[in-house]
Amino acid sequence: MTNPDPDGSTGAEPGSPADKQVLVRVTEETREQWKEAAEALSISLSELVRSSVQSKVNDTLYCQHPMQFRKSYPWSESCLKCGVRLRA
Ligand SMILES: [Zn+2]
Repeated sequence: MTNPDPDGSTGAEPGSPADKQVLVRVTEETREQWKEAAEALSISLSELVRSSVQSKVNDTLYCQHPMQFRKSYPWSESCLKCGVRLRA
């Protein structure tokens, strides 16, 4: 499957419009690599960028520690590793 205009597809789930654009400047070489990888994965370049960035965002913003590090109370739950409160 080819994507003649990968940047034109949003990959948004129905009901959640992906209507914001993020412009990223890369070298020609990087762009070709990204396109090649996207084609190998049978996804659009946009989707590759979206999913890759989102993965990094989740790792950065949200606790990824296993359950064993969680301190649970009936009224709250927090992570002992990073101190993030997982449940209010
Ligand atoms: Zn944590």
